[in-house]
Amino acid sequence: MADTEAKNKELSSSFQMNNDVLDYDKKKRKPQEYYEGIKEKFAEERDLRLGYRPPGTEMYRPLDGKFADYEQDPYIDEVIEREPIVDEVEVLFIGGGFSALLTSARLRQKGVESIRIVERGGDVGGTWYWNRYPGIACDVVSYDYLPLLDEMEYIPTRHYAGGPEILAHCQAIAKKYELYDLAVFQTTVTSTIWDEQEQVWEVTTDRNDRMRAKFVICANGTLAKPRLALIDGMEDYEGVSFHTSRWDYDFTGAELENLADKRVGIIGTGASAVQIIPNVGATAKELYVFQRTPSSIDIRDDWATDPEWAARQEPGWQAIRRQKIIDKFRYQAEKRKNLVGITQEEKIRRQENANIDAMMRIHQRIDETVEDPETAESLKPWYMLMCKRPCFHNEYLPTFNRPNVHLVDTKGKGITEIGPKGPIFDGVEYEVDVLIYATGFEVQQTGIYNRIVGEGGLELNEKYTDGIRTVLGIHSQGYPNMFIMGGYQASFQFNLTDLLQVQGDHIANVIDYVRKNDIDTVDVTREAEEWWVQEVISHRGKTNRNAECTPGYYNFEGQENRRQDGNYNGGFHAYIDHIESMQSDWDSTFVFTKD
Ligand code: NDP
Repeated sequence: MADTEAKNKELSSSFQMNNDVLDYDKKKRKPQEYYEGIKEKFAEERDLRLGYRPPGTEMYRPLDGKFADYEQDPYIDEVIEREPIVDEVEVLFIGGGFSALLTSARLRQKGVESIRIVERGGDVGGTWYWNRYPGIACDVVSYDYLPLLDEMEYIPTRHYAGGPEILAHCQAIAKKYELYDLAVFQTTVTSTIWDEQEQVWEVTTDRNDRMRAKFVICANGTLAKPRLALIDGMEDYEGVSFHTSRWDYDFTGAELENLADKRVGIIGTGASAVQIIPNVGATAKELYVFQRTPSSIDIRDDWATDPEWAARQEPGWQAIRRQKIIDKFRYQAEKRKNLVGITQEEKIRRQENANIDAMMRIHQRIDETVEDPETAESLKPWYMLMCKRPCFHNEYLPTFNRPNVHLVDTKGKGITEIGPKGPIFDGVEYEVDVLIYATGFEVQQTGIYNRIVGEGGLELNEKYTDGIRTVLGIHSQGYPNMFIMGGYQASFQFNLTDLLQVQGDHIANVIDYVRKNDIDTVDVTREAEEWWVQEVISHRGKTNRNAECTPGYYNFEGQENRRQDGNYNGGFHAYIDHIESMQSDWDSTFVFTKD
């Protein structure tokens, strides 16, 4: 087990673009012309895709009309009828995923009793509530991804946790911290309006509730709303169809057994499809995978947690792991800063070359695994590492060796037409009994689906007309006692829960400070907000990465965007330092009022 012990210690939350800038000379590199040639091919493939696409997100359709059903909750037994709620709580969370759960735990630890989660789904869990497709799991090591493991005294059963285990963990947190008591499910918030007179938020919902809350925390996730590609004729398709985040187990059977005599089509090959395809490929009579851009598929080294290792973990073990991750980021950043005699251009060149080497290793793995050379070529991603979300799977590539699995490579064009029997490409209508849209999610900006009105009646969306304006991505001036989690202008983290934990701790500390000092409202100063916007801008646009990448949601589908409307790229450790310095001198950032 020594091997497992060592492997368990790996902090793969620290997955990032790789640090070959630091170790560049330790590996054998090719001549520069080789890398330039590959970059040309990357550019060709990107331009091909941009040429086919309507601009930005216009290639996706809203879920209305016939497609409104695609958003319905397939996991509830019945729609609960209830009277509208008119009351007041201290803290109200919009959304019941990890953001709400881990922040609530911290608030409970600080003595906050009145906490309500308002959630569209039938239970807590967020992403893990909605996404229950076959094969669902998280690609981030479970010991790092699942939050509150120390507090819950829980050690995940596998190195990579599956969706059901993660959902159960969410439910266990809600139980332990008694969050079900005031939680409201099957309820969508429609507006959140600041009452200046009373200094409370008034939250209305699609159930005619009028809930008041001293503090509101927008915890509604970034990739929450399913999106469908806009495809001619899709309304006329006569078979069964659904989106990956609303899996129809009634149709497929719990073990996909009903697919044994069915022809299945899957549109899209992103991270969701990569986990689904091996399962459907193993069970369906025929599977047609309609690909526009291949994902990069790396090795996924998974194993059951070694019970002896688990037994050896002392209380507080996860907090120690988290601290190590942060320390590692800090150490690497320091090392990069201290790289003497290397220009910014040289750093970029090294990083790009190292990333190309990583992508070519992914290509080599495809050649070694996929038997049919044409299929192997089609599965090769031609873009820089991290242009799209990297995927990890051991069965995905071999699935294409099955005789019943057919890759329909649209070579960047995508499916643009669907007939009554199935998707049409190159004049061929692929007849399928069920069509699964693995076309992803809208990237949500806070305030888009929920009308947030702050001081002076200003809607948050209106305030953002000329660009997002926040401090840390959490506070926006003019929206007192409101906090935003997981949104833009926050630090990018491959392990999202690392970020959410840092944000949740910060929010709990702010609320604790407000309570202890009998404060009524907390807001940020205009100066602090302007400083943060400039801080975000100064760290973005150091490279041409967004423009050079193949389109996807990471680069706003290839559309130009304002530099402030993205993540904070100054580094996770720097983000944490900023939070700590704000909390050591509250008045430099915050404005407090009391009666
Ligand atoms: P994505 O947005 O990543 O993928 C959507 C897919 O649909 C892309 O392959 C896209 O192609 C394709 N597509 C869109 N329109 C068409 C069309 N007309 N014809 C053919 N293909 C089309 O969504 P996912 O649900 O896969 O993943 C979303 C995110 O969720 C991930 O990035 C990740 O952050 C998270 N996730 C994490 C998982 C994990 O931990 N393993 C698992 C699942 C999801 P193109 O690339 O050309 O745009």
